[in-house]
Amino acid sequence: MERVLLVDPDKCTACRICELACSAKHTGAFNPAKSRITVETFLEDNFFFPLVCQHCENAPCIEVCPTGSLTRNPDTQAVVVDESKCIGCRMCQIACPFGAVGYSASERKIVKCDLCGGEPECVTFCPWQAITLIEADDAVLAKRRAFGARLKEAMKEVKV
Ligand code: SF4
Repeated sequence: MERVLLVDPDKCTACRICELACSAKHTGAFNPAKSRITVETFLEDNFFFPLVCQHCENAPCIEVCPTGSLTRNPDTQAVVVDESKCIGCRMCQIACPFGAVGYSASERKIVKCDLCGGEPECVTFCPWQAITLIEADDAVLAKRRAFGARLKEAMKEVKV
């Protein structure tokens, strides 16, 4: 069964340990700028949410990539990037409704969550269990999509 990352913004404290764990896993450095997960903070509202790829069922990033760099891993169901094929055109960034695709200016390639091969470090190291990897039954998917829709609207307001 498909497994999905579920974020609970009510539990997130914006400690950013998830960003450190992610960057360490993928780059060997504790550098939030290189993390595949980004904690968005709205201090005035005391609202924090970790923004990470939703590995959408019909992923627009896969659809728009002109080089076929983005595919779905059949084992983990994660949308993954083949960096050797990525030409850094950033079409996937534009297509992503959540703004969850990152870009490395030094590498000139996109960077994104790959679910750490099925054992995400952000889940392992979040001290507050704000991020969980769970089996995606219909109820969970509905909840994630509802949250995704809220997030999408929030991001629109932020970008205005
Ligand atoms: S580690 Fe958990 S609580 Fe800390 S910022 Fe990340 S999601 Fe939020």
